[in-house]
Amino acid sequence: MSIDKSTLFSVFNKARAGSAGLDRGRVNRALGYVQAGRVALLDDGTAIVSGNAEPVYYVSAAGCDCPDHLWRAARCKHQIARWLLIRLQEAQPAPVAVPEPVPAVTLEDDIALLWGA
Ligand SMILES: [Zn+2]
Repeated sequence: MSIDKSTLFSVFNKARAGSAGLDRGRVNRALGYVQAGRVALLDDGTAIVSGNAEPVYYVSAAGCDCPDHLWRAARCKHQIARWLLIRLQEAQPAPVAVPEPVPAVTLEDDIALLWGA
């Protein structure tokens, strides 16, 4: 998914504005994950968040398997990154599908179809 920067910052600013209980440092790091393309959203709503020097974390609406979330029992940067990506996908218009050009049918094609030639 290509990320529209103005949409991303609009979503990010809403997250910061309404971030009661969220750690601002974690919100900032979550933005970095989304910008770096390190967050992949699966069809079931689970996100896979990967870092450089850390393992891959599986993040769902229920929680995250990283130590930060498990020990603090609060929203971690991976959960915030998942939330940002979901909001971003909702806010971003879907790309317009360009229809495939229909190949022109020639008289020879018609004859071949009709007569099996
Ligand atoms: Zn986490």
